[in-house]
Amino acid sequence: MKLQKPKGTQDILPGQSEKWQYVEALARETFKKYRYQEIRTPIFEHYEVISRSVGDTTDIVTKEMYDFYDKGDRHITLRPEGTAPVVRSYVENKFFAPEVQKPVKLYYMGSMFRYERPQAGRLREFHQIGVECFGTLNPAVDVETIAMAAQLFDELGIQNVTLHLNSLGNSSSRAAYRQALIDYLTPLREGLSKDSQRRLEENPLRVLDSKEPEDKVAVENAPSILDYLDEESQIHFDTVRQLLEKLDIPYIIDTNMVRGLDYYNHTIFEFVTDVAGSELTICAGGRYDSLVEYFGGPDTPSFGFGMGVERLLLVLDKQGVSLPLEEELDIYITVLGAEANGRALELVQALRRQGFRAERDYLDRKIKAQFKSADSFGAKTILTLGQSEIESNQVTVKNNQTRAEVTVSLTDVETNFQEILKNLEA
Ligand code: ATP
Ligand code: MG
Repeated sequence: MKLQKPKGTQDILPGQSEKWQYVEALARETFKKYRYQEIRTPIFEHYEVISRSVGDTTDIVTKEMYDFYDKGDRHITLRPEGTAPVVRSYVENKFFAPEVQKPVKLYYMGSMFRYERPQAGRLREFHQIGVECFGTLNPAVDVETIAMAAQLFDELGIQNVTLHLNSLGNSSSRAAYRQALIDYLTPLREGLSKDSQRRLEENPLRVLDSKEPEDKVAVENAPSILDYLDEESQIHFDTVRQLLEKLDIPYIIDTNMVRGLDYYNHTIFEFVTDVAGSELTICAGGRYDSLVEYFGGPDTPSFGFGMGVERLLLVLDKQGVSLPLEEELDIYITVLGAEANGRALELVQALRRQGFRAERDYLDRKIKAQFKSADSFGAKTILTLGQSEIESNQVTVKNNQTRAEVTVSLTDVETNFQEILKNLEA
């Protein structure tokens, strides 16, 4: 038995978890500006919720699922992504009903699970922050959703993010392209990887998504899907481009980008950054107009994205972005002698109830060790409490940076520490 974390998982420890909280809080704030509301779905789903919607021939479903049969013989999988579960919930909870305001805008944050080979920015349990907008084909939604991700990256201080854009068109455009791609790839079949030879039969667009070097070479001169868009698809794509330009959001067109999931149509996109010379996708998404119907709901065109939190933090780290984290304590109480233990507890509680970040010594240590703790917690002020302070009801509060001191009554500390802080800072 191994008493260590499973391969591809991480403990998010203090020091790191503050960064997670910051990113999550900023995402919530940003999404709120666009009227998004949070949804929390189960960590596991029936296998069927994921398998056909994500695609029976995708890598996620064929290779990466954490699935098992539970004690009731139900085929269960840990969720590998967020969109299919949210769509399942949307339909199950009848969010399509006319009394629910459209579009419905939902966001989620949480763990996803994929059995992959772990490496930098690739884990088996990883976290996504994602959004889904249900109920309109308006290309303005495609663009505002992309703009929302861009706003978040901007507010986080991430640099060198490039928006990659493509269109998969509607189903008839895709059928025409599929044939063109088969015609192009068939003569090259022998040079393709084993997986891609199979993909060529089952789902040729998946060959474009392959990471095998021989497949990448083979698809270099593949026909472009953009040459197969019908009028409706062309208009949608052109409008998205115009609206991106209206908002001054730069992008590049990437015709070989297909995304690793089968449910997309029309607009698809990725935000790619550069980390130590290699490209890393931190956010990806697109339009999926048939998924709600697939789950038994009415025709509901939809758009969404997922971003990888580990990758986001990796990029922030590599780019040397320092997040404005507030970690310091307002006050540290040093406690001299066991007799002061109870009074110290009353005092620290009174401070916390006034809204301050307060900590005290619990270990009855030498004063020097207690001052060291105050420093390492970044305490703004220090209050020293011993028997004589308790008897006189007078204490000295010291600004730990300027060394300025004030002597005040314990009652003042308990009822109006705000005023004491103000005097010490002035
Ligand atoms: P990739 O091509 O890198 O495998 P993907 O197409 O499988 O990515 P999506 O399913 O679109 O990724 O997931 C959205 C985002 O989630 C990715 O852009 C990435 O930032 C993150 N992500 C995906 N898989 C992992 C993983 N195994 N570990 C960490 N982050 C991941
Ligand atoms: Mg993947």
